[in-house]
Amino acid sequence: MFIANGDYSLLQGNYLFSEIAKRTAAFKANHPRAELIRMGIGDCTRPLVPAVVDAMHRAVDEMGDIATFRGYGPDFGYDFLREAILNRDYLKRGIRIDVDEIFVSDGAKCDVANISELFSKDCIVGIVDPVYPVYLDTNVMAGRSGRYDPKLRGYERIVYLPAVEQNGFVPDLPQVPVDVLYLCYPNNPTGQTLSKEQLKRFVDWANACGAVIIYDSAYEAYIRSVDIPHSIFEIDGAKTCAIEIRSMSKTAGFTGTRCSYSVVPRELVRKDSLNNTVSLHDLWARRMSTKFNGVSYITQVGAAAAYSDEGYAQLTGVVDFYMENARIIREGMERAGYTVYGGQNAPYVWIKAPHGDSWRFFNEILEGHHIIGTPGAGFGAAGEGYFRMTAFASRENTLAAMRRIGG
Ligand code: PLP
Repeated sequence: MFIANGDYSLLQGNYLFSEIAKRTAAFKANHPRAELIRMGIGDCTRPLVPAVVDAMHRAVDEMGDIATFRGYGPDFGYDFLREAILNRDYLKRGIRIDVDEIFVSDGAKCDVANISELFSKDCIVGIVDPVYPVYLDTNVMAGRSGRYDPKLRGYERIVYLPAVEQNGFVPDLPQVPVDVLYLCYPNNPTGQTLSKEQLKRFVDWANACGAVIIYDSAYEAYIRSVDIPHSIFEIDGAKTCAIEIRSMSKTAGFTGTRCSYSVVPRELVRKDSLNNTVSLHDLWARRMSTKFNGVSYITQVGAAAAYSDEGYAQLTGVVDFYMENARIIREGMERAGYTVYGGQNAPYVWIKAPHGDSWRFFNEILEGHHIIGTPGAGFGAAGEGYFRMTAFASRENTLAAMRRIGG
């Protein structure tokens, strides 16, 4: 008889955005004429830039011509894209990695979820709290969380590292054993970054105890301060303890087009549950070639165009546009009297709810101003009392939202 995976029953409640969608739908049903401004989900609104569109059109034509048609592509991505990534994201920043350490994929969400197939079931997982919920939920699904404790508002076997006002939203090093730690910087949802010194402390900790860091830098393009690291591989020692996951979603407007990549260094070697010495690079390569058939050629051609000088210049303009929205939100909310964090090196502004209840604040902003944000509690217990606004709305809507709130 078939038995379903009971670990799914340990997942808590609805996924954050479905709960928001439910509440929004109920509000719309009661107020059909209300003009809602959506600043909740972090989805891009600006179209693909012309350099990407042109390249993809050419790729479609190639696929429609018998002389240039391509079938399955290489499992780890076409070399033209891997080399473009290597040059712009790493070599130009003085970071030395090899092209075969780059694995092209169809989304950072899939990679941050799938990478956990490389961990033994017994690994103790550490996550920053609050953070992008996928790290936690995928480890719950994989049976690594233990039971949920409603009093602690957390799982027994997950180690939570609170990133709160008191520590400047920079978590302390784990005080108990942790085997794999997810770090997300610039952070979703707090919008905070780590300095090189702060990141170095995590790298040194991981190397000292044999842990692995999964470094999700989906928002690195939004970094404005010159001293903030864009890649964990800017830090000495990271190649023996870290995997980096990057997305083209927020960098190049590929949320609907789907392209990302992960860097798994060859130097990352650990024992497996059978006491073999294994290369995580080789495990990931095996995983990708067994379970993935590559990102479409058309998408990869578009992604490579985003790395060209022309495409990159156009994309910089798009990211600048969103960051101007972030400035408008940050300053507007401050003028309206709120305590505000983030929005300077990330498209997320993290606002303190004056009464400390984030779902209540969500309802107040929805009902009072017809604006949808994201309650901080949805990103973890330590997100309670905060509210996330995203910089991805149109300029018109961003300005209108601030006028409605009084900023
Ligand atoms: N990582 C973080 C921190 C995110 O916030 C998101 C999307 O919101 C993702 C990954 C997902 O990226 P992708 O669209 O490449 O799956």
